[in-house]
Amino acid sequence: MPAAWCSICRGEDDLEVRCSPCGRRFHKQCLGLSSQQALPVDWRCESCLALEELEGEERERHDAFVASQKALSADGRALANRRSTTLLAKAALLEPFVPAAKLEEVRRAARGKEKGKGRGGAGSRASNDSPKQEERLVDTQPSFVTATLRDYQVEGVNWLVEARESGIGGILGDEMGLGKTLQTLTMLAFLKKVRGLTGPALVVAPLAVYQNWANECKRFTPELTFFKLHGSAHERNALLERADVVYAEYDLFITTYETFKAAEGFFTEDVSCWSALIVDEAHNLKNEASKLHIGLSRVRANFRLLITGTPLQNNLHELWALLRFLLPSLFTTSDQFDAGFDTGKLVADTDLIAKARDLLAPFMLRRLKADVVTLPPKHEADVSCPMSSLQARWYARLLDRDLESQSLLSTSQLQIIITQLRKVCNHPRILLPRLAVLDSLLHRLKANGSRVLLFSSFTQTLDLLEDFLRWRAFGPHLRMDGSTNRIQRELDMREFNAPGSPHFAYLISTRAGGVGINLATADAVVLFEPDWNPQIDLQATDRALPRPFLDPS
Ligand SMILES: [Zn+2]
Ligand SMILES: [Zn+2]
Repeated sequence: MPAAWCSICRGEDDLEVRCSPCGRRFHKQCLGLSSQQALPVDWRCESCLALEELEGEERERHDAFVASQKALSADGRALANRRSTTLLAKAALLEPFVPAAKLEEVRRAARGKEKGKGRGGAGSRASNDSPKQEERLVDTQPSFVTATLRDYQVEGVNWLVEARESGIGGILGDEMGLGKTLQTLTMLAFLKKVRGLTGPALVVAPLAVYQNWANECKRFTPELTFFKLHGSAHERNALLERADVVYAEYDLFITTYETFKAAEGFFTEDVSCWSALIVDEAHNLKNEASKLHIGLSRVRANFRLLITGTPLQNNLHELWALLRFLLPSLFTTSDQFDAGFDTGKLVADTDLIAKARDLLAPFMLRRLKADVVTLPPKHEADVSCPMSSLQARWYARLLDRDLESQSLLSTSQLQIIITQLRKVCNHPRILLPRLAVLDSLLHRLKANGSRVLLFSSFTQTLDLLEDFLRWRAFGPHLRMDGSTNRIQRELDMREFNAPGSPHFAYLISTRAGGVGINLATADAVVLFEPDWNPQIDLQATDRALPRPFLDPS
């Protein structure tokens, strides 16, 4: 295993010690040794020493694990061959974004593969070099899934299998609510039941959606065995000592970002090869320098799959970070992406954006709800509210002040002015005219039998709205903001969604109500002030729509 980081501190500089049986690297300091101390050539790390003690059944389980890891490695080499062929076919798309030297390496690898033809891998389809036949891999109702798949989901599962077997991995970018988890689990079940692939796959998800993976796996793909790896440091360490975990005796390990970061060694060294690495809410990898991105990059997996409903928010750099995660040896520099599109710097090169879209096509599958399912229509209304005289006075004063200066304003100066104007509009102390509008709106919704999600970005405004709801006697309500813990959230959401729930309104802080929120029993959303980022508003409004297609059974 060619680890290039210290097994203990995870640092990458000046690694002095290498364990020859397992390849783990260390700093002398991290092992409690002085820098002068010499070590024997056949020095072994603690894990390797422990292995020598194994006997009986424990030894057999260990040997089975080693054999399965070897088979996975061989499969990985076969897939790497496939990758160079696949990439070569896309050279024209890659060219504007990838250094010429890297493309040349791809060409060389593909040529080398031609020569080495016939040396297959671990018996998967990836090792078969014959031209691919047009075939439907997964049919409408595979026996290993209990849910009835919709057409677009069948298409999605086939795309996922292809993404694996072409060797390049992929980004499943379907809009929220289209069943990305179900499609992914179906793909894994297909690999097990039809391709006969063994070896563990790894799902890394935010805490808010982690349990959902386990629930859906149990419900929809009961033939996949899974293990949930999460808990306090104490619980985690106990789990990591269990033999069934140490020998990775499950089809699927489900863990959280936090657990991954805290126990990285298990995922990168103890299990040194995974059949698949699946990162949920993968837009969290948009910063390639983050601990999460660096840590997950060290996981060796034959198939990397990124799942996100919002693949691109602010700039092409975020897209580059995802592609780099899929193919680190190819996307080594972000220069071209950075030059193309950045809302922060107000850069938009339409030609390059079009090329980026073409580049993305083979790597990403993204469907929108509007394209694949018929939704109950969503009615949107912008309600303009008048300003109070105090607001109007400040608004005018801010504008006048800057008009007085004769010189042209820079982008950042303009952004400062806009921020100040926004503060004038949204300051919680001067919201009376807007509350008057809200009052009549809520009365109408209440009379209509509707239930409302009320969003604001400011907790102070939420405080005010709470007082307002009480004062106007709209009936009981719930509240979720950054200070609401996860368990309280779960309980509140269950209460809100329960049949006959008395709660008319749910007050939610826009940023806290991000992922893992399902409040589909509400049928109206009020955004008390719009966010800068339209994706945030879209996520908020998507919480409430009746979505009957969500239930696939
Ligand atoms: Zn170290
Ligand atoms: Zn070792």
